[in-house]
Amino acid sequence: MAQNVNKIKDHVELFHQPEYKELFANKKQFEGMPTAEKVKEVAEWTKSWEYREKNFAREALTVNPAKGCQPLGALLAAVGFEGTLPFVHGSQGCVSYFRTHLTRHFKEPVSAVSSSMTENAAVFGGLSNMVDGLQNAYALYKPKMIAVCTTCMAEVIGDDLGSFIGNARVDGVIPQDLPIPFAHTPSFVGSHVNGYDHMMKSILTTLANKKDTSNGKINFMPGFETYMGNLRELKKLIAALGVDGTILSDTEMYLDSPNLGEFSMYHEGTSLEDAADSCNAKATIALQAYTTTKTLAHMKKKWKQETLVHRPWGIKATDEFLMSLSKMTGNPIPKELEIERGRAVDAMTDTQAWLHGKTSAIFGDPDTVMGVLQFMLEMGVEPVHILVHNSNDEFEEEARELLASSPYGQQATVWGYKDLWHLRSLLFTEPVDFMIGNSYGKYLERDCEIPLIRIGYPIFDRHHLHRYSTIGYGGAINLLNWIANGILDALDRKTDIAGETDISFDLVR
Ligand code: SF4
Repeated sequence: MAQNVNKIKDHVELFHQPEYKELFANKKQFEGMPTAEKVKEVAEWTKSWEYREKNFAREALTVNPAKGCQPLGALLAAVGFEGTLPFVHGSQGCVSYFRTHLTRHFKEPVSAVSSSMTENAAVFGGLSNMVDGLQNAYALYKPKMIAVCTTCMAEVIGDDLGSFIGNARVDGVIPQDLPIPFAHTPSFVGSHVNGYDHMMKSILTTLANKKDTSNGKINFMPGFETYMGNLRELKKLIAALGVDGTILSDTEMYLDSPNLGEFSMYHEGTSLEDAADSCNAKATIALQAYTTTKTLAHMKKKWKQETLVHRPWGIKATDEFLMSLSKMTGNPIPKELEIERGRAVDAMTDTQAWLHGKTSAIFGDPDTVMGVLQFMLEMGVEPVHILVHNSNDEFEEEARELLASSPYGQQATVWGYKDLWHLRSLLFTEPVDFMIGNSYGKYLERDCEIPLIRIGYPIFDRHHLHRYSTIGYGGAINLLNWIANGILDALDRKTDIAGETDISFDLVR
């Protein structure tokens, strides 16, 4: 099976070579696989209502979860601040997973270090790993801030981050004034959205420099934002309204960095000075609710700030966001945004016939799902299955309220805390026209023959989608583009058999 270096076959071609075919056949025999007929019979049964009931009776087992670990979110929050190095107190394997997960989505290097805990640390505690790790990380990478979070192992043995970091300062291995926010992020509870929230709160409370007078600014918290185009869109809207604002965790340059021929470990982000001053702002607007819950509560209670949540997906929510900004600043909404709005409405009108009345499933993080729902209901799409693994009561109530407010939301069911194997049963027993979700939905697409429109996180198997926006009027056009053209692609695939189905293989759609 030696490869010819002048003609390397990628794995798509390679595994169809006779030697591999033989190897796979032998493997099947060796493993004592059931017959093809038996496999088919069981596969068919798993599509039935009978199997769905058994599947939904499942309690202790998760199959194909639709969520990530808490530290993953903590990393994303941290890299949006100037000169910040994420430090994961735990094993190497965990932090490798977080780095690759983010890199596979953003196609950018994501730097994070770990305290490399092994069996020793699990038994005796991770103090020396933490102290040595902080010393090495600071000496090697010269960060302006180190943001520490934990993995399951450190949490199970109960390592005390605050006192460990204090010990490192007493030992003099790191400067006394180096900011080191820390967040406990055990992954046996919550998900990446909670990890984001915990780290954001820790960074802001660590840096906060409260003064007696307001700085007159407005903070904007994007949340666990994976569309870098959204940060650009947000900045554009803020500038158009003449708002003096601070984006809290501005990941745009880190996760969509220009290639200027030189590697940089740190990129521009929210300056530590602006982050420290954010407690003196007159208000904070979060663009996601469930990734910023604790941070917003802290700002409201301790900083006495006005806090709002605006999720500007679709026309109505973008209107509300802009009107809110206009009210807060006294500045009018400029003509250029009115024109943009008109373009989005025009595009939606052009395409509505293809989407109106279509049924859909959607899975993902709570805020993404809410944003997509807002847009789909505006287009007359009828959601049927809404599945959120990292759910919570507030999200479910908000989603049900939104669905109840629209004639198109009446047949929807919100499935909280369910995984993608549950969704498979739903799609087989109650099929829909298309589904929206992340790349993991491609297995459902293949299995259930229901087109997948990739919106959410992670998107590993398509390039550059994260560079676009989903918010604002520009974002509405992008959503429309992805959904409508996904439906048309599926229609072309369904009508492309010459002499059989191609009577509807139309040039004009
Ligand atoms: S679940 Fe825990 S142990 Fe597993 S990768 Fe996440 S943090 Fe590490």
